[in-house]
Amino acid sequence: MNNLSEDFPILQQKVNDEQLVYLDNAATTQKPRAVVEAITNYYYHDNANVHRGVHTLAERATAQFEAVRKKVAHFINASSEEEIIYTKGTTEGLNWIAASYGETFLKPGDEIVISYMEHHSNLVPWQNLAKKKGAVLKYIDLLPDGQLDMDSAYKQITDKTVIVSLAHASNVLGAVNPIAEVTKIAHLHGAIMVVDGAQSTPHMKIDVQALGIDFFAFSGHKLMAPTGIGILWGKSELLDKMPPLEFGGEMIDWVQLQKTTYKKAPWKFEGGTQNIAGVIGLGAAIDYLESIGMENIASYEKTLIANVLPEMLNIQGIEIYGPLDPEKRTGIISFNLKGLHPHDVATALDMEGVAIRAGHHCAQPLMEYLNVAATARASFYVYNTVADGKKLIEAIKATKEFFN
Ligand code: PLP
Repeated sequence: MNNLSEDFPILQQKVNDEQLVYLDNAATTQKPRAVVEAITNYYYHDNANVHRGVHTLAERATAQFEAVRKKVAHFINASSEEEIIYTKGTTEGLNWIAASYGETFLKPGDEIVISYMEHHSNLVPWQNLAKKKGAVLKYIDLLPDGQLDMDSAYKQITDKTVIVSLAHASNVLGAVNPIAEVTKIAHLHGAIMVVDGAQSTPHMKIDVQALGIDFFAFSGHKLMAPTGIGILWGKSELLDKMPPLEFGGEMIDWVQLQKTTYKKAPWKFEGGTQNIAGVIGLGAAIDYLESIGMENIASYEKTLIANVLPEMLNIQGIEIYGPLDPEKRTGIISFNLKGLHPHDVATALDMEGVAIRAGHHCAQPLMEYLNVAATARASFYVYNTVADGKKLIEAIKATKEFFN
């Protein structure tokens, strides 16, 4: 892999007199010049509101806005761009499924099944929905190495299950879940399968049709696009049955004093002026990723992790959470150092120029399940290098020495 870091001006800086090593990619990723320039270019030359105008700038903005919808459909292999809804991010997408599909189709006593490794964004909306509808929220267990326990999945998903919702990849454990297999179980029981793709879409080729799922949500900012733009994909036949959630401009077909008809999906879900520049940035980010190739990104990151993990495991007193086999994980490495608080570890690493995160990572039930208050988390992306991994190891060793 060529050194991509040159495409990222933000990475060309020193932090605390040390060359910055950015390993907080699970929280958000850095943006290549191509993305920043696409947004600047849009504002310098084409900025206008979409859909409503007949003037040249409005037509240009609309053409770019709708072209990205097609690009996203191709990126995740949706069968049509009409299955692609623009959102703020994963959180909004998952909330919309709960509020629209869930509120419409759930009955008291129905069951929703998730797992112990879910981010709060794939937990709290279901908890709230279950409470409102008198439904039951159930959790699939994890194996000791942090992988999903499929025996538990078979037990928890029953004929009472209406919705199964799982992370494709965990934001703490790095574990990649066997979504296609769980989807088969869900469908066998007549349930729909929702997937939180926040931590998988940036790192691997996504094929929603091959996975066999019903809904898929992801965030642009975790794959080099700006914040505030995300995607909710849903099967057309489900989107057609779901009511819109935000009412007002853009999403209507015809408004009379006492009655309104709505546009068809996806536009009926996109009330008000959208994040047009964010959409343009997302399109540029997808172009950038596809110019490298999602398969190449996945295999490069596996090689990186195969390089870093064994060296990390050699550090005395380190505990690493999640599967150790690079084939079963992404580039997220959560760890703790014996006797040290993860916040102290992250602060000490920052003094060495290494940016990692510490805390509960919006997964408090998982922390409880692992019996820890928090973890430190280093997360790699395709612009990171083996040298970044070495710097991480050196900085962890220096931290241990400093505190001992
Ligand atoms: N799901 C997972 C697994 C995540 O890692 C995140 C963000 O960290 C989210 C959902 C929420 O994403 P966003 O804050 O972009 O909506």
